[in-house]
Amino acid sequence: MSKVQKIIAVTLFIFLIGCSKPITNITPETKQDQDTVAMTMSAELQAKYEGYQISWPTEATKITQSFHATHKAIDIAYERGSESEPAYIYSAFPGKVTKTSDDFPAKSDNPDGNYVVIEGENGLIAKYSNLASFTVKTGDEVINRELIGGMGTTGHSTGPHLHFELTDKDGNALDPLFFLPKR
Ligand SMILES: [Zn+2]
Repeated sequence: MSKVQKIIAVTLFIFLIGCSKPITNITPETKQDQDTVAMTMSAELQAKYEGYQISWPTEATKITQSFHATHKAIDIAYERGSESEPAYIYSAFPGKVTKTSDDFPAKSDNPDGNYVVIEGENGLIAKYSNLASFTVKTGDEVINRELIGGMGTTGHSTGPHLHFELTDKDGNALDPLFFLPKR
């Protein structure tokens, strides 16, 4: 390879790296949260999960609380319809339902309200909390983007939203925004 060819190759490589992390198409509401991703997950975990992607569990993308030390999840706000018609919640990846709030006697102080836990074939575990209701039970297999419930405000909640938690099998809390496609 000539020197010029090498320079072109390196420049193209750097350009492609830049393109692999698109920062366009981010609404002002979510941009700030998405910018904080780099600070909320350790470099080690970011390296481990480089290239992983999950699907949005909602149509809504407005983040009202991001991932931080005392909130190891994101809250996605309710954005459309009327509150009596909950927005749909979809599985963020294919997997198996390993737990729901139906498995336990109702507790008046359950902060998570109605919830569903799905363990993915990708090794990730997602918990969908504060649901109005859900349509799956423990043991069910779900495909990617399968309808699993409706957004609600059960448990400790001040308004309809999805409290979306992501962990891995080693118990690491993961920032969902690191895995969600930017939109
Ligand atoms: Zn939350």
